[in-house]
Amino acid sequence: MSVCPNCGTNLEEGAKFCASCGYEMSPRSNNQESDQEYYTNDNAIEPEIVGSPANIVKDRMVAGIFAILLGTFGIHKFYLNDMGMGVLYLLFSWTGIPSLVGLIEGILYLTATDEEFQEKYVK
Ligand SMILES: [Zn+2]
Repeated sequence: MSVCPNCGTNLEEGAKFCASCGYEMSPRSNNQESDQEYYTNDNAIEPEIVGSPANIVKDRMVAGIFAILLGTFGIHKFYLNDMGMGVLYLLFSWTGIPSLVGLIEGILYLTATDEEFQEKYVK
């Protein structure tokens, strides 16, 4: 129930004009609506999606190929964020052992499931 501010007549809810004196009512809801509209426009710029999971997941195939072809230098270890092992492979690359280990690891990477690979090998 609203009351005409001009003549004090009781008016129907949402009436735009006073039935008695013709005073133009300005309901508050109109102002609220325009406020909301303004607010919504303000938030129209969507925030950029930061750090999608794809950035964390290492590619099993890439790691496997690195291990088989470049395992001598521990490239696959560097790729998998295992810097310590990578350096170790690099230091012992002249012995030929990292090549063999890399080959085996490459096969293990390629035969593992994506979940196993992420769990066991990605640091
Ligand atoms: Zn009135």
